[in-house]
Amino acid sequence: MSSVMSGNPAVVMRLVASAYAVAEKAGAIVRKVLHSGELGIVEKTGANDLQTLADRLAQQSICASLSKRFPKLTIIGEEELPAEEVNEDLIENGQAEEILQKTCPAEYSDLKEEELVVWVDPLDGTKEYTEGLLDNVTVLIGIAYGGRAIAGVINQPFYNYQLGPGANLGRTIWGMPGLGAFGFQLQEVPDERRIITTTRSHSNKTVMDCVDAMEPHEVIRVGGAGNKIIQLIEGKASAYVFASPGCKKWDTCAPEAILHTVGGKLTDMHGNAYCYDANVKHMNSAGVLATLRNHQYYTSRVPQSVLQALK
Ligand code: AMP
Ligand code: MG
Ligand code: MG
Repeated sequence: MSSVMSGNPAVVMRLVASAYAVAEKAGAIVRKVLHSGELGIVEKTGANDLQTLADRLAQQSICASLSKRFPKLTIIGEEELPAEEVNEDLIENGQAEEILQKTCPAEYSDLKEEELVVWVDPLDGTKEYTEGLLDNVTVLIGIAYGGRAIAGVINQPFYNYQLGPGANLGRTIWGMPGLGAFGFQLQEVPDERRIITTTRSHSNKTVMDCVDAMEPHEVIRVGGAGNKIIQLIEGKASAYVFASPGCKKWDTCAPEAILHTVGGKLTDMHGNAYCYDANVKHMNSAGVLATLRNHQYYTSRVPQSVLQALK
């Protein structure tokens, strides 16, 4: 009997419901480390590629919590951490009840735990986190099946921080193609206006030349892949353009699932989809081009030199 008929939530729905609770816990960890004042910053490949105590603890929390409940899952996290026992108070056992109540799209209702791959960016926008640009920070948990991003959860731990002390901080956005996207109000930039959002800390001449070739009316430079996808779905930007390697599968899996749910598209600079199988290379080496609408216009504007450079 299928899981729909038996009344038990499908495995993937239980996973999304857990990922929601786990992402909220990770967001709380990210806030707590900031308030402690001891960020524990480590350079990975250089000064623009950082890891903090928050990245480490949040990843431990997410991976240990999910693998406890779903032991056969493949989980791929950004940070390389020593295999050690995770502190019990980092474990989140909760699940979002409102997600368990939803009907799983038929095509996903019989997926098995061992067929699912979870891509985890415990803290996206680390550079900006260390610089106090707190709304750029997100926690990303993406779920893939058959190489495609089929669900995503984004926690934004410092949402509303500009409101000052006493504000209710943080929010969680999630989505699943065929089911819906929740936790935000979908808005679009007016069709005739091109607002491009791109990196602030990983730019170079090719990145900016490519943005210019799209003849934007406005360019926004902010940190975080998750943050830039939120800008697309909330009507702050029309396209996220990053003509450079550097962005990884854990940066794009959750955002792509949510963007696709609302009719948007995330591809490389050639307009080709990325694959999220467990064995793919981590680097999105052909760049990132994401839009809510009019993807074709932006792919058509990518300079030949960029297409040749990014394979
Ligand atoms: P950004 O838009 O610069 O915040 O980049 C989006 C995501 O890709 C973040 O997780 C960055 O850490 C990552 N990223 C982009 N370019 C690089 C790079 N050159 N080195 C390391 N990470 C990068
Ligand atoms: Mg990231
Ligand atoms: Mg990260």
